[in-house]
Amino acid sequence: MHTEQRTFIAVKPDGVRRGLVGEIIRRFEQKGYKLIAMKMLDVTREQAEKHYAEHKGKPFYERLIEYIQSGPIVAMVWKGYNVIAGSRQLMGVTNPQEAQVGTIRADFALVKEYNVVHGSDCPESAEREIAIYFADDEICDEYDNMAEIVIEKLDD
Ligand code: UDP
Ligand code: MG
Repeated sequence: MHTEQRTFIAVKPDGVRRGLVGEIIRRFEQKGYKLIAMKMLDVTREQAEKHYAEHKGKPFYERLIEYIQSGPIVAMVWKGYNVIAGSRQLMGVTNPQEAQVGTIRADFALVKEYNVVHGSDCPESAEREIAIYFADDEICDEYDNMAEIVIEKLDD
């Protein structure tokens, strides 16, 4: 049986401001992941602190909390085969200077402090982060996605 995962992806405020929402969604869609929730919102201080709880106390923490609240984000849930590792691959590593050319962060960002996109790093953080931004009835998983149909054939 193939591993279906869910992950929380957000276009951060700098990505929204720079008009990169469509470009980022395009890369996830063309890979074959299934979009199952999406909204634009202003992150509250409470959401920001929950989201980045693991970084509390680090030197960049306060600036990070300010950054994620510096404008609206586009929050999304994507589903698919190995989507957590796969989306981190599409995004590139945290520091755009070290990210591979062709990844979102390498192609569209200059510094690690403003790296245009967020993606969960493991199944536990994915479910935790999804719950910060989405209610269960905001998830739309009841439709067929072409890539999923193709992958299901692997189970035969
Ligand atoms: N960050 C930063 N300075 C650092 C490390 C991280 O400003 O030295 C910010 C950056 O926006 C990053 C976020 O904090 O995306 C979360 O850091 P993490 O190490 O979890 O990176 P990610 O999972 O986003 O690649
Ligand atoms: Mg992280």
